[in-house]
Amino acid sequence: MSNTYKIYHISAKVKTGNLNCASSNNRYFKNSKKIRALGTMLHVKEIQAKSVLNTSKVFDYCLNPYTGCQINCRYCYARLFMKRYSGHKEAWGDFVDVKINAPEILQKQLNKAKRGTVWISSVCDPYQPLEATYELTRRCLKKLVEKQFPVNIQTKSELVLRDLDLFQEFNEIEVGFTITTDDEKVAKLFEPKASPVKDRLSALAKIHASGIKTFVFIGPLLPGNPEKLIENLAEKADMIFIDKMNYLNSIKGFYHRFGLHWETKDKFFKEYKERLVSEMLKRKMKFQTLF
Ligand code: SF4
Repeated sequence: MSNTYKIYHISAKVKTGNLNCASSNNRYFKNSKKIRALGTMLHVKEIQAKSVLNTSKVFDYCLNPYTGCQINCRYCYARLFMKRYSGHKEAWGDFVDVKINAPEILQKQLNKAKRGTVWISSVCDPYQPLEATYELTRRCLKKLVEKQFPVNIQTKSELVLRDLDLFQEFNEIEVGFTITTDDEKVAKLFEPKASPVKDRLSALAKIHASGIKTFVFIGPLLPGNPEKLIENLAEKADMIFIDKMNYLNSIKGFYHRFGLHWETKDKFFKEYKERLVSEMLKRKMKFQTLF
């Protein structure tokens, strides 16, 4: 989080659906029509980063090729501080700074860095829709695989499948999805621009079947059917992590607007966790609860 940037390219204010780029026919841009229909303006700014490989409290390093995240989860903890940190006036989800020199800077940093696990990413989704155009995550992975730095990837996007060929070249890699509910409507409400749950599950299954170690982060626990969720994850994820909704006070109003009151109570999280755990024990799945 200690990056400082200088603006490289004047800010481009674009409607996401109008992105005119080589990859605009890419299937991962299918969502852009929906984004345009909602009238969402995405402010994209290409910037030069001074650093992209930063130390982390979770893994040895974190790597964020973008500042900002189009996925725009209502519960995102990064929305609480990233606007202030990056100096943006736009709402979280409406801006993305693209660190266009990320692969080159990473190469320089890797030449000096002690080998350690790199978390991709801590405050953005590395496979948010713009990645289909910029391919920064992919190009950073190419640098990391040359040095065989272990990698831990976490995403809510099926675009991750594009890089399966690269994952195969790593000696140590884990690829995980955040899947907070089995209910598509709930997921759409809380994670508006993430891939649909069924697509995340299908991508997870493909990655797992290819021999890559996979994990699923069920956090924050959102309303849904816990038994069905675990049934959907069985034999696709090597490890499951479970967490409640943290920073609940900052999102309680959003819950209440949609009539979700019980789902903000401690008892809800406790009971939901118990049902998940019971189902996982039944199926002999590996898991860790974080609350
Ligand atoms: S995908 Fe992650 S970083 Fe992006 S908005 Fe959602 S929680 Fe935040």
